[in-house]
Amino acid sequence: MIPGPTIGPCPVCSLQGAEYFAASESKKVGCKACGEFVITSMASHIIKGEAASDIDWSTSSRSALSHLIRTRRDLALHSGTSLPLVDRPALERLANAGLLLPIPSEQVRNFIRWVGEHSRTSKPRIKPDLNELRAVVGTTSAEELTDLAYDLQDEGYFDLSPPKRHPGISMLGEIRMTLKGWRYWESLHQGSTTAAGGFIAMQFGDLRLDAFISANVNGRVAKELGVSIHRVDSPEVTRAGVIDNIMREAITDAAFVLVELSHGNKGAYWEAGYAEGLGKPVIYLCEQAVWDDPTRRPHFDVNHCVTVMWSETNPDAFVEQLIATINNSLRGRK
Ligand SMILES: [Zn+2]
Repeated sequence: MIPGPTIGPCPVCSLQGAEYFAASESKKVGCKACGEFVITSMASHIIKGEAASDIDWSTSSRSALSHLIRTRRDLALHSGTSLPLVDRPALERLANAGLLLPIPSEQVRNFIRWVGEHSRTSKPRIKPDLNELRAVVGTTSAEELTDLAYDLQDEGYFDLSPPKRHPGISMLGEIRMTLKGWRYWESLHQGSTTAAGGFIAMQFGDLRLDAFISANVNGRVAKELGVSIHRVDSPEVTRAGVIDNIMREAITDAAFVLVELSHGNKGAYWEAGYAEGLGKPVIYLCEQAVWDDPTRRPHFDVNHCVTVMWSETNPDAFVEQLIATINNSLRGRK
């Protein structure tokens, strides 16, 4: 007999009513806020504060992780599935890069995108699930989300019912997007309104590459530029050539796209092509040793493209050159 799920609080966001399907070392969790994901027992211990971590697991860090799980950003996928995997290496990587909630302008984009997608597929007036929407938008609480919704109504993007916020009550009735809201949604959809941050397409799961990229790109370069640079792992189907929605959204949203070529990952080429098609600045990264080796050199003709080489022996030169290259390509656009 297959055992049924256990019900309990979500190990990430603590929301009650999450379902667990336990395997020995890791379990699959279904949470109304975070969505479905796989977490190892070690990662559960770390988040509970029962094992050492460089992250202070406050409500704000947990909410930030819940947002990344929901939007599948910065986490590798559990092998053979499209479920994000929360394990110790992932938490270490996030600790290096800095686990932060989206800034308010990103929250606004997430909110309007979600309302737009849902209004198109259902009725024009939608009644959101506050837990799910809290994780999608990336706020710490339902109360903060409610505040943001009423701010967006004041700015003319939404028409809410009830039209006035009840003080002290976190409640959202129905949301209707106004014409102004739809115009904003359209600009997001076309990629003409973008985040300040970037996106990196690369292969997850190579520990050496992961360590170099998270320390230098997600860490040093992002900090120096004052932006976030998200990573999205491709499920196997994407590697076979179909770009999925989450990936498309992340690329559309990005101000610039970095493509790591050292692995010759097919998915990365698709992502590069999609980004080029949208007119995003695309910068290619390649390990110097791979570039110099005729048998491993990227087969793709990237000679005419901007490629920044990296090597573990000289990360400083790479960081400096990448910052200059990103600044240069953004300067031409603004
Ligand atoms: Zn959760």
